[in-house]
Amino acid sequence: MNRIFFRFFMLVMLSITAATFVIYFAMSRLFGDPLEDIARRQSSAQIFLIEQYVDAAPADEWLARLNRVREVSGTRFDLIPLPKARSFLPAVDLGALDRGEVVLDVEGKSFYRRVDLKGERYIGSEDDVIHVQDLPIDVSLALQMEAVRYVIVALALLVPIALWSRSHWQGLQSLSRVADEFGAGKLSARAHMQASASIYPLAERIDHMADRIEALLVSQKNLLHSVSHELRTPIARLEFALELLDAKALDPALKKRIAAMEGDVLELNSLVNELLGMARLDSEQALYLDTVDVAALLRSAKAALPPGQPVVGVDATPDAGTVEADARLLGRALSNLLRNAQKYAASTIRMTARREAGRVVLAVEDDGPGIPVEERERIFEPFYRLDRSRDRATGGFGLGLSIARKAVVRHGGSLTVEASELGGARFVVVLPQG
Ligand code: ADP
Repeated sequence: MNRIFFRFFMLVMLSITAATFVIYFAMSRLFGDPLEDIARRQSSAQIFLIEQYVDAAPADEWLARLNRVREVSGTRFDLIPLPKARSFLPAVDLGALDRGEVVLDVEGKSFYRRVDLKGERYIGSEDDVIHVQDLPIDVSLALQMEAVRYVIVALALLVPIALWSRSHWQGLQSLSRVADEFGAGKLSARAHMQASASIYPLAERIDHMADRIEALLVSQKNLLHSVSHELRTPIARLEFALELLDAKALDPALKKRIAAMEGDVLELNSLVNELLGMARLDSEQALYLDTVDVAALLRSAKAALPPGQPVVGVDATPDAGTVEADARLLGRALSNLLRNAQKYAASTIRMTARREAGRVVLAVEDDGPGIPVEERERIFEPFYRLDRSRDRATGGFGLGLSIARKAVVRHGGSLTVEASELGGARFVVVLPQG
């Protein structure tokens, strides 16, 4: 709310400030400086004295009248040489001074006017200027009035802008909540905004889009599940038939061929099992939550690892504590990560667990080739494998990481990958505290 409100408010205030300056300069250009106008009115008594009283004197009495005015007035009336007066004034005012007009200096609270243009009042009077100082000029009141006007306009705008931003903000917040929930896998999340809301058309489109995505995902999951399920029976039949065939076959070449086919069927079977496991994770099935000791979880994941190189180091800080989790599911996610690390590590695998900002952070890292930055999100997609894994006999189906992430997300956590200081990949599981 604050951001949207202040940005809009600042923009409006900047526009008003800019408009105020433009108005001031336009008015000054077209009708003269308004501040000078005020100053001229405030100096009108002194100007009147000069123009209507001193100037009205016969030529030989002009100076005497000026002196009389000097005696009775609290304002200073000085005679200064024309070049000096010119040096005090900005270039734009020199023309008016030369024409014998009153030239105001608002800041200096004074005005200048030539005694006369033809030297008729005394000898050399055409080269003198009356400089009247200490005039009762005070434009601060006018400026204060402008400031008050500005503040009132600002406050008057503040209220409608706040109301406007509030209604938008609430709508935007409910949309971003929908986006968050939808992104976190809650496919039923919708905005359901009232038709009178300002962003109703946008919300309606987002809801419609969510409907379509949900329908597509559900049908995709159903299809995957059904196909995997339907494949089980023919695979079992194939396994049985191959066993029979193997028992009957005498030719060693045929036996070798059958063994290869049995290997393929085995692979097909494990793929189907993985797919069914993944479909089960998707199907919001209830988790068997328990209080799981994190260090014990790491140790059992390590123990379940097929024997072989490289060596796995487990380093769980004593405060790693426990998490509320489905031990079987979380164990499966961890062993998928460990098994990958075992495939790719050169010599070292490290498993760590620690508590950080109220969450439990588990990491599995290795000193293998690592994952290129641009692939770090894609490897979690089902069936996605990096090219180099294909030329490895150990390459799986590309489902391991996808299953691991689904399992972690079902626990309200996250699974990401980054570069490890060991040189390879570092898979990080962040779980809410148990
Ligand atoms: P797979 O069963 O093929 O290993 P995964 O989903 O577990 O499938 O992994 C996807 C891809 O991510 C793998 O093909 C591999 O290229 C890459 N990968 C996974 N773990 C690591 C790792 N520890 N080091 C390097 N690459 C890895």
